[in-house]
Amino acid sequence: MDVDILIIGGGIAGLWTLDQLRQRGYRAVLVENRELGYGQTITSQGIIHGGLKYSLRGVLTASANEIREMPIIWRDCLSGQREPNLSSATVRSHCCYLWQTDSLASQAGMWGASIQLRVKPETISVSHRPELLKQSPGNVYRLDEQVISPSSVLQCLKKRNQDALLLCDQKQGIEFSRSQQGTINSVNVRCQGDELHLVPGCVVMTAGIGNQQLNEAAGLRQPMQRRPLQMVLVRGELEMFQGHCVDGAKTRMTITSEVISTGEVVWQLGGQVAELGVSMSAEDLIQHAAKELKAILPELNVESLKFATYQVDRAEKKISLGLRPDSPQVLKYKNILTCWPTKLAFAPRAAEMIEEIITNQMHINPSVIPGENENLWKDWPVPNVAESPWETVENWYQISGETVSFVPARPAKQAA
Ligand SMILES: Cc1cc2nc3c(=O)[nH]c(=O)nc-3n(C[C@H](O)[C@H](O)[C@H](O)COP(=O)(O)OP(=O)(O)OC[C@H]3O[C@@H](n4cnc5c(N)ncnc54)[C@H](O)[C@@H]3O)c2cc1C
Repeated sequence: MDVDILIIGGGIAGLWTLDQLRQRGYRAVLVENRELGYGQTITSQGIIHGGLKYSLRGVLTASANEIREMPIIWRDCLSGQREPNLSSATVRSHCCYLWQTDSLASQAGMWGASIQLRVKPETISVSHRPELLKQSPGNVYRLDEQVISPSSVLQCLKKRNQDALLLCDQKQGIEFSRSQQGTINSVNVRCQGDELHLVPGCVVMTAGIGNQQLNEAAGLRQPMQRRPLQMVLVRGELEMFQGHCVDGAKTRMTITSEVISTGEVVWQLGGQVAELGVSMSAEDLIQHAAKELKAILPELNVESLKFATYQVDRAEKKISLGLRPDSPQVLKYKNILTCWPTKLAFAPRAAEMIEEIITNQMHINPSVIPGENENLWKDWPVPNVAESPWETVENWYQISGETVSFVPARPAKQAA
C-alpha cells in the first residue's frame, strides 16, 4: 500500500508530526512497537519550557532562542485556538514557581535568568507565595510556563489520529527493503502474525532511544547520545506544586505534581537530583532526595511520605564534547529522516522542521484531501498509551530517621 509518510515511534515527536502532516493532507501512518510515549514522553515532567534553563548563564544562544515561542504555541493548542486542538488534555498548572536557596551563586544565576525571555520570571510578594515557599529565605518568582500531564496529551493525540496508528511486534515488527543507493523502498510491518506491506515516500524515525537500532536496520550510522537519569517519585499528603529550585546556573531540583486516579498527589523530582542519582542505589538516592527536600522546602514533613525511583534515558543527537543540544535535531539521508526533539516542549518545532524538509527538499506532495478520514487499517491493532511511572514502579520506601526502610506499600494505583 502506498503512503506518503511512514512515521516510526509514537512519542510526542511522532504523534505531533503525524497530526500535523495529516492536517496538511498527507497520507501518513505511524507504527509503534510498544505503547505510545513509552520511554521519555510518559516519564517526562511535562514542563513547557520557555528558555529559562538556557538563560541561567545570562544569554540565550541563537538555537536556544527557538524555545521562547514554545509556551505560546502550546497555550494556543491547549486552549483549542490552534491545531492540534489539545483542549481535552490536562494542564496541571499554568505557571511554575522559581525560588533560590540563599547562596550568592544562586542570586547571580537568577539575575541572568530574566534576560531575553518571552516568558519572564516575575517576583512575587510573600503574601502571594504558595504555602510551601512562605518561609523561603530567598526571592520567589512566578514563571508562566505551563505544566501539562503527558499522559493526557498522548491520549488526546491518540484520539485524534486513532485510524492512522498501527501496533507492531516488539521484535522483528518492522523490516526495511532498501535500494542500492540507500533509499527505503518498502517496509513490512508485522503484528501478531499479520503482515502489512507499505511503500512510503518518506520514512520518519521518531523512536527516541529506538532511533539507533532503526538507523542501523536502515544501514545508517548516525550519532546519538543517551543521558541517563534516575528520577524520584514522592507520594502522600502533598499539595499540587510545580517549581524549580535554582542554585547558580544549575537547577537543584525541579518538582512537578499530578493528582492520580486514587486522589493522592504524586511529585516527580528531577533536575540535579536525577542526574546525580544515576550513580546511586535507589535507597541512597531517596535518602539524598529527602535531605534535599528538607533543605529547599523546610516546611515539608518528609517522614510521612513514600518514595520510589525510576530510571530512564534521554535520547538526543550526539553533540561534540558531551554537550547537550538546545534545539530539535532532524537528520536527512535519502528518503529517511531521524528526529530527536530534545524536549517535549519542542514537539511543534520538530514537526514544523520535518514538514519543511518533506515539502521543500523531498518535494513530496499531499495526496489526500485535508481532514479526509480514510480508515485504511480498520482491523489492525492500535497501540495503547503507556502507563505513568507511578503506576508501574513497585517498590515504595519510607524515611525513618537517617535510614531508609522499605515499606511494603500498595502500588500507587491501588492506594486508598
Ligand atoms: C525524566 C524526564 C523528564 C523530562 N522532562 C521534560 C520536561 O519537563 N519538559 C520537556 O520539554 N522535556 C522534558 N523531557 C524531554 C522529553 O521527554 C523528550 O525530549 C521527548 O519526550 C522525546 O520524545 P520522542 O517522541 O522523541 O521520544 P519518546 O517519548 O522516547 O518516544 C519514542 C517512541 O518510539 C517507540 N519506539 C521505540 N523503538 C521503536 C521501534 N523500533 N519501532 C516502533 N516504535 C518504537 C517507543 O515505544 C516510544 O513510544 C524529559 C525527559 C525525561 C527522560
